[in-house]
Amino acid sequence: MNTSRAPVGSAPRATEATAELPNYKLHERLSQEELATVYRASHLTLDRPVQIHLLRRHDWISASRFQLAARLAARLSHPNLVPVIDAGHDDKYGDYLVTPQLDARPLSAILAEGPLPAFQAARIASQIAAALDYLHSQDVFHRDVQPANILVAAEGLAYLSNLSLAASPDTPDLSSIDEADYLTPYSAPEQRLTKGEAGAALDVYSLGAVVYHMLAGEIPPAPGTELPSLAGHDPALAPADRVVRRMVATNPSVRFQTAAAAAAALRQALRSQIDMATVDMEESRWEASAEWLDNPVETALGATLDEGFKDFLSRARKRADDLHRRDVIRRQLNRWSRDGFFRRRALGQLITPEQIVSYNVYFFDLQTLYESRSLTEARTRPYRPEDRNSNHASPDIWAVAVPDAPPFEAVVACEVPIPGSTQIITCPECAGATVVLCKDCKGTGTIEKVHKISNPDKSIVSETLTSPCAACNGYGKQKCPKCQGAGKLVEEQAFTWARRAKLLSNTDDIDDLPQIALKRRLELVFDGEINPYEGRWHSVAPLAELLRAAIGEAGEHTRLTAASLKIQSATLTEMDFLLEEKPQRLYLVGFDNELIGDWALLNPERLFVAALVAALTLIVLIILAVVFVH
Ligand SMILES: [Zn+2]
Ligand SMILES: [Zn+2]
Repeated sequence: MNTSRAPVGSAPRATEATAELPNYKLHERLSQEELATVYRASHLTLDRPVQIHLLRRHDWISASRFQLAARLAARLSHPNLVPVIDAGHDDKYGDYLVTPQLDARPLSAILAEGPLPAFQAARIASQIAAALDYLHSQDVFHRDVQPANILVAAEGLAYLSNLSLAASPDTPDLSSIDEADYLTPYSAPEQRLTKGEAGAALDVYSLGAVVYHMLAGEIPPAPGTELPSLAGHDPALAPADRVVRRMVATNPSVRFQTAAAAAAALRQALRSQIDMATVDMEESRWEASAEWLDNPVETALGATLDEGFKDFLSRARKRADDLHRRDVIRRQLNRWSRDGFFRRRALGQLITPEQIVSYNVYFFDLQTLYESRSLTEARTRPYRPEDRNSNHASPDIWAVAVPDAPPFEAVVACEVPIPGSTQIITCPECAGATVVLCKDCKGTGTIEKVHKISNPDKSIVSETLTSPCAACNGYGKQKCPKCQGAGKLVEEQAFTWARRAKLLSNTDDIDDLPQIALKRRLELVFDGEINPYEGRWHSVAPLAELLRAAIGEAGEHTRLTAASLKIQSATLTEMDFLLEEKPQRLYLVGFDNELIGDWALLNPERLFVAALVAALTLIVLIILAVVFVH
């Protein structure tokens, strides 16, 4: 009970903010990481679970590493990297990062229970390799691949986390710190923190050391020592020796060029064990030069796709499957050649296909709804008999019921009173007397009017007439207008409430693609409300960009309360080929395979003849015209 309420005008919530960041409420502590303390937390409005990482060390190295991780995560996006949903600085709590609750365990905790079966180790290695190759393609080198920085979710998804030691063009210069503190049993022997010396080979080494630990159940020996054969643990693992030893070779140039190549070699070496464990360790189903590329949105949504999306995907795969068969595109091109006079003859025979890639491109529309609630001053209204002094402290304004409004529709700002914030006060206007002096007669009850009367002799006489005041019926007093005669006022707190909807759109990178043809063939594959703080949506780069922009607009008085996502997609195939020994590219767009290419696909002889005929015709016409005029 709090009857001694704060005086009007002071901020009533100032004492309540114990464990809150803008938009998030912290719950219990989950774990302590090297740089941060991790809390279970929830998003305030949506009541969605997230994890908040609060920087716990405040030396400049820790702070800049933490900020680097946030910065990198903001521009990187891969299904096997832990997404960072939000990051910021709070005056009270310092730097923080928000990640989704992944329901995953660190690989280090899993390995504490013993080695992993070969198929599981291969599966984790493949996923971490994919994340590493992605990082390398972005000029980022992780430099701290170790079991503590790998998270494994129940359904087998593996995530690489902690980019705080990564080397990238914007990494702070860490060369002044003692490297020995940052080396783990998984670090490559040549690893240094000096700027400009990182490369993919560092991460391939560390991944190899992690693979060894997963299969052998032991931390690998120090670099330079010959790695004990895995056959010592399980004779069936012997074929993997060659691969792991190459990954952790002392000489970086001996290691695999890419992490994916290492993971593929590992799967190959462990093939018999993998086949025994599972049938769906998918190898490419396509010819060497033809491949299907999964879009991150397809990977991220995985098994949770709804029917419309599933149907679209299976049709797109089937279409690619058909096109990727031998000579199918050639035949398609020959048909195209026959259908137009200016097209190259028998195009299918002229080309040498080099690379055929099929994939879907996606267009995202995110509809967001923001709600603003900010405190206004107390307002007063006349007392009504049913009004009672309220005993309640003012509640959280975000818990106050507001008028119903259709979803995703804007509401103009209006005042909403806070229930339980009423206080009955004496009317200051009439000091509780319920009446005030009549304004018209100033309390006298009479009104004096001066009449001017003209006499017949043209002199003018003033005559004062007194009549009872009509406004107060001669009483001299009026009902107090402020309290409407109640003598009391009710003072209550109110806040300003408004809703604002905003549509954000983004697409996969389609700059080099035939955009008009793609947009003509868009199919709606997903349409529904989403939780914008859920990790999987952040695995998709263009969508993550939208979500970060949407989340970034929320603040102390504004919350993102709902988000609805619409995904449209079109399928296409691109083919690189040689035509008269020159590299060319064409696109087959949509399920009807519209062919989009450039001038190279047209028939140069026929174009030349046509141009010549047109020019000659023009010349003849001019000559005729000249002759005719003369
Ligand atoms: Zn009054
Ligand atoms: Zn009066």
